[in-house]
Formats: sequence, C-alpha cells, structure tokens
Amino acid sequence: STNTADYIWSNGEMIAWQDATVHVLTHAMHYGTSVFEGIRCYDTPNGPVVFRHREHMQRLKDSAKIYRFPIPFSVDALMEGCRETLRVNQLRSAYIRPLGFVGNVGLGVCPPVDTEMDVIIAAFSWGSYLGEDALAQGVDAMISSWNRAAPNTIPTAAKAGGNYLSSLLVGGEARRHGYAEGIALDVRGFLSEGAGENLFVIKNGVISTPPATSAILPGITRDSIITLAKEQGYTVREEPIAREALYLADEVFMTGTAAEIVPVRSVDQITVGEGQRGPITAALQQAFFGLFDGTTDDKWGWLDPVNPQ
Ligand code: PMP
Repeated sequence: STNTADYIWSNGEMIAWQDATVHVLTHAMHYGTSVFEGIRCYDTPNGPVVFRHREHMQRLKDSAKIYRFPIPFSVDALMEGCRETLRVNQLRSAYIRPLGFVGNVGLGVCPPVDTEMDVIIAAFSWGSYLGEDALAQGVDAMISSWNRAAPNTIPTAAKAGGNYLSSLLVGGEARRHGYAEGIALDVRGFLSEGAGENLFVIKNGVISTPPATSAILPGITRDSIITLAKEQGYTVREEPIAREALYLADEVFMTGTAAEIVPVRSVDQITVGEGQRGPITAALQQAFFGLFDGTTDDKWGWLDPVNPQ
C-alpha cells in the first residue's frame, strides 16, 4: 500500500507503523462498529496546517455518541495526538485518518455497556482522491441504482465504518460502468450525495445542495463551500433537489476532504452546462485552495498550525 508512514498514534501512544495491528476477532471487523474521519493537512507559507481540525475531531466524537460508544479522549487530546503524528512523521501535507473502533470485547453484537473504543490516528501523503486532472477537467458521474440508507435505518450523519458498504456499492457500480464516481438518491428519490462527496448544483447563479434530511453526511468541505459562496455574495439553498436538476444545471460539483472540489462535467452521459468546469466552480475552488497559499484570508480560524509558535 502507498498509504504508509513511520508512526501511528494508538490510544495515546506513538507506535511503529508495523506494530499497529489488531486481532481477527476485533468487533469492528465483524459488525462495522467503527467511526472515523478524513482530514487534510496542507503545507502553507506559514507552515503546515490542519484544515478545520476541531470540527473533524468533534464529528468523530459525535459519530461515536450516536452509537453510544465512549471515546476516551477529548477533542483537544485528539487534536494534539494528530499534530504529534504529523510532526513525528515529518509530514507537511497529508491525509489524516483518525479511527475509533470496538476492539477485543467478544463477539456479541451489542458490546458491553461503556465499552471504550480503541482510537488510532494515521497520517500519510495522499493526492486528490479523484486525481489532479479531475479538479480542472471535471469528471463523468452516474446516478447509482443503489439508494442511500433510509433515515430510520442507519444514521448517515454518523461517519461509521458500516456506512461505507453503501459507498462501495454506489462507487463500485459507477467505476464498473466506466464513470469516475456514482451519485445516490435518497429513498424518496431526491438527490443525496456522491459515494464519498457532497453534491452541489448551480442554476442561474443560485447554488443548491441537498439538505441534512436527504441522507447525507454533513460534510465539512460542504460547510466550508457554503460559507465561502455566501461570502462571495451567492445565494445558497439547502433544499431537496430532483434528479433532473443535474441534467439541466449550468454547473455541478462535488466536495469532500479526499476529493476536494471536483467539477462534474456529465451525469448519465448527459453533458452538464458546457461540459467543463464552470466559472462559479472555478471561483469557489480558487477561494478554497487560496486558504492554503495565503490568497484567501482565513477569517474563520479554519487553519490549525501543526507547529504552533
Ligand atoms: N459524504 C460521504 C459519504 C463521505 O464519505 C464524505 C467524505 N468524508 C463526504 C460526504 C464529504 O465530507 P467532508 O467534506 O467532511 O470530507
């Protein structure tokens, strides 16, 4: 695997990469009982920074809270563990993967009450998930035959390991058919999100994105883009969106920590707008990536320095 480094933070201690192993009867391996995050560290003129660090670690805690799994570390302790992981691995830009999992507690589906999760933080170099080319050229996507989970089945606001079987079905189907990514509908048939990205639709200068009630993961990149777009004077609506709005949009793009801001140039082989990255998508990419080269002022305190002065 290319996803390697020298050290991994494990339950508060730094251990060698190859020692970060678990037993085959680990609960999470059988029942999907894990929660995780994907976070990016960007190299900036002022040194490496973790993007929206606190919000990501808080979402990890929130995911665990939904399932009543205690995580025995505070948000601040997790953030310090993460900075330490970046420092010992000498990473200036990285993808960071914190994970909480139900470990060696026996194979009863319901773990003993108050079972604490094991927690690890790994970090390694990783380029944009759908490729650097995708950021400029856009990608071809398809609507999946798989829906996202109904709201009374598995909560999509939790970033839990088991949820990613849905992403595997949606993303895998798309790739088998030659598309870069799949987009899922919610159980009512409204647009939900990509397999690992939130979705934005632009028509006549108005930006829309599916709401929390459309079975999405409330993405932190999504929130950042909503904030940056409003800052630039755009109207942003969180509202149910019909599938055909993708076909008739001027621009469509997807957002995620791994994927960053990716234009969608076609959906189901119907060209979106001009079939290339549109001007509003480009402006929002510039505002977003500008946070890391210093051309966008970080008014919101989104950048957490890895090496505080
Ligand atoms: N939806 C899903 C299903 C995801 O896995 C991700 C990636 N974490 C996102 C949306 C985007 O979320 P974020 O911007 O917080 O990375």
